[in-house]
Amino acid sequence: MNNSHQESSPDTQEADFGSAALSKQRKIIHFSSGETLEEEDSEEEEEESLNRAPFREPAEKTTSSKATDNLMDGQTETIHLSHGLDGSHYGATGDGRCPADSQESCDVKHMDKSEGCHNRAYQADEVHEVYENGEDENPILNQGSDANLFEGDILIPEGRNAMADKKYRWKFPIPYILGDDLDLNAKGCVHQAFEMYRLKSCVDFKPYEGEKTFIKFEKRGGCFSSVGDQQVGQILSLGSGCDHKAVIEHELLHALGFYHEQSRTDRDDYVDIWLNQVTPGLEHNFNKYNDDYITDQNTAYDYESVMHYRPFSFNKNASIPTITTKIPEFYNIIGQYLDFSKMDTLRLNRMYNCSGPLTLLDQCAFEYTNICGMIQASSDDADWVHTKSSEGEEDHTLLGTCRDAGYFMHFSTMTGKPLESALLESRTLYPKRKIQCLQFFYKMTGSSKDKLVIWVKLDDGTGTVRKMKKIHTFNADSDHTWKISHVPMEVGVKFRYAFQAVGGDPSTSTGGIYIDDISLTETRCPNTVWRIQNFSKIMETADNNTVIDSPRFYSPEGYAYGVRIIPLSSYTDYTGNYTGLYFYLVSGVNDVVMQWPAVNRQATLVVMDQDPDIKLRMSTARSLTTDMRMTSDGKLFWDNPSKVGTLDTSCDCYKSESWGWRNFIKHFDLRRRNYLKNDDLIIFIDFEDITSLSPNRSPH
Ligand SMILES: [Zn+2]
Repeated sequence: MNNSHQESSPDTQEADFGSAALSKQRKIIHFSSGETLEEEDSEEEEEESLNRAPFREPAEKTTSSKATDNLMDGQTETIHLSHGLDGSHYGATGDGRCPADSQESCDVKHMDKSEGCHNRAYQADEVHEVYENGEDENPILNQGSDANLFEGDILIPEGRNAMADKKYRWKFPIPYILGDDLDLNAKGCVHQAFEMYRLKSCVDFKPYEGEKTFIKFEKRGGCFSSVGDQQVGQILSLGSGCDHKAVIEHELLHALGFYHEQSRTDRDDYVDIWLNQVTPGLEHNFNKYNDDYITDQNTAYDYESVMHYRPFSFNKNASIPTITTKIPEFYNIIGQYLDFSKMDTLRLNRMYNCSGPLTLLDQCAFEYTNICGMIQASSDDADWVHTKSSEGEEDHTLLGTCRDAGYFMHFSTMTGKPLESALLESRTLYPKRKIQCLQFFYKMTGSSKDKLVIWVKLDDGTGTVRKMKKIHTFNADSDHTWKISHVPMEVGVKFRYAFQAVGGDPSTSTGGIYIDDISLTETRCPNTVWRIQNFSKIMETADNNTVIDSPRFYSPEGYAYGVRIIPLSSYTDYTGNYTGLYFYLVSGVNDVVMQWPAVNRQATLVVMDQDPDIKLRMSTARSLTTDMRMTSDGKLFWDNPSKVGTLDTSCDCYKSESWGWRNFIKHFDLRRRNYLKNDDLIIFIDFEDITSLSPNRSPH
């Protein structure tokens, strides 16, 4: 979302945490009575039900990191295995970084006793599914919608148009209206989808101001859209279950002029459509079109397109697919709902003659000798070295892909004088928004006195870029692995960004400073990053009762929250197992002054695809928005956790019941692409006030 920027101070301090002690604990997870799983009448659901008991966790093994792990803005937290792989106990250590003044802890001695943290009997904990009935599992099929639809989610226009015809193409920015009937969460997700278009293409959107043509988002029965600019204003429906970044990306691709991938002229070369397995009367959903009608932008058939149907679409027999792929490897890929595929992005950019993405200012994986136009300052003592991976010194770009390949930038701190430094500057950049996020991977293996300092060099007002401003300092610590970092910036004039490596103590250093896979976007940085190491091992050894709770994080407003990951959730389908992710509030140091209940806040969880090219990343995101819903015993779910939550003795803090998605991400997907590069699962978390999107802005 781009309307409420609540950035932390960019010059955040850092501090190390002592190792957080771990506690082994068992939790009972129960469900409010009456919560049962109903089978959806579309595709894979029925098949899944054979394997899927109602989501009921008899006993959970939980590992929570201890009280000292509070993190604030720009916070990063890492979890790694510290107790071996016995499948029952995953260790968390609080070795993340945070502002030095934010080390408040959910510890009895730091808490106002009236807030909670007094001993009381441990109460049962709960996880809740955002989509109890799996509404989001295949929302584009819209079976049961009474809208005039053909092909699942395409609204039949007045006169059918051919998208090869350029008169149905949009001019940017596209005016939009968010209908008052839309769910608040859907509104937030629309903005997330807009930001993905801006990051990967030149497609832009603006609030409606009386233009003749526009897109109006409304909540009707299902998710659907017309194809192309109808030039009279058109509806894009986001019904229940459509409040999902990738679903909205899909519907907007229709609005921009794209049909489903399997309706291509040449589709029979790539997929088999089993019409005899399609529910009678729904065969039209598998129409294909001539190439004078739709355009493929001269690209190959794309099994990974976000515009492709899933195998069980419109089937009459729950266990028999209607689409199979000629290349079997793609059977589990078709119908993905992660993000645009590489080909989706390419076609979109071709159809609209984009010269480049709107919000990507710069990126570099250091794979080429020109190092993306970066320069080494001549005024300093030493230079960064463009270095090829070798055994034990792998770059981040190709990590785990091939041995001894890939390049990174390296500064050795083993030689030279103390405080010797090297400055690597970007080319000159011209910002359009006054909000940026510098994301990169770094590794510090030398002396504990080594530093990595992020600078910007600004236009001094005369057109000369020379005014230096220190943005952030990273200090070496005992963690010598590749770590991700986000540095927020607010630059409104032309500038360069720069990495300064500073050697602290050559006599004790046995390594140096590494950077790789940099991107600078004109987007907001995620509020929180939670890294879980050795995740493939966790997936292999977890059972349905394995739960990992994050440390406590704080939102920019001051709410404390956590994320729960169930590495092997009870949900399975034809692709195999899934990992579930859940969000909950935690009692925190600001609770006395916070507004309760914490409603109209959107929690967004993102599992990062660590592809070095940000345009090709297919990170998967889900959001929920807090509301006034009540628990079965009449309490507000999102009220103060010390009032409605249960005491977790591992952190001596109160946790609210958690809400999330048992089907957040497929294990099949986690094992491909770059979700587990370096075997790190990286989760971005935001919890932000979206009241401004609400038609009725008065707080409850
Ligand atoms: Zn569609």
